[in-house]
Amino acid sequence: MKQQGKDLGLCLCTVCRQLNGSDDSHCSRCGSELHVRDYSSLQKSWALLITAAILLVPANLYPITVLTNQGKVRHDTIFSGIIHLVQSDMFPIAIIVFIASILVPWVKIIGLATYLCAISFNLPISKKKLMVGFHIIEWIGRWSMLDLFVISLTVALVNMGQLLDAKPAPAATAFALVILLTQLAAKVLDTRLLWDRLENQDDTN
Ligand SMILES: [Zn+2]
Repeated sequence: MKQQGKDLGLCLCTVCRQLNGSDDSHCSRCGSELHVRDYSSLQKSWALLITAAILLVPANLYPITVLTNQGKVRHDTIFSGIIHLVQSDMFPIAIIVFIASILVPWVKIIGLATYLCAISFNLPISKKKLMVGFHIIEWIGRWSMLDLFVISLTVALVNMGQLLDAKPAPAATAFALVILLTQLAAKVLDTRLLWDRLENQDDTN
């Protein structure tokens, strides 16, 4: 049986990392409020994640860029933009856009939803799978800037052309919010809730 801080009567301050007794209500060093476990973080995380999932609909259905080429206006959604890149023989860029705009947001939303379900409903998912997934989500988090990189790259590439003008369209706002909200949903979750569940489960998978 592994011992946790709370079994030893200890509670870590989330602000300054000072160790306090689990009976203390405020940190002895910085005075912040102490929580042995932040169960409300689960609700906040769910709320942010569901909002992100809803915003994913307009982000994919509405045009994300407006291109003006010699007076012709072209509206592209994320998907039609990728098709357009493939047809224009810009295959490597199409792959980057696909990963940044479709794969990454979906993996993040599905991954986070799996964690929240695992904690909320005690799903029978093995320790190993949850751990591997947790590291994948963490690793993907570092790549969220890729979306911004892709947008600036696309605009730079397009503006190199003569009479071409690229502007972000309504879906760009929704898309930026999806990225922001999934980041926040992962950030607000008290991960100690996940470890609690893993420690209780005696699986060897
Ligand atoms: Zn503190």
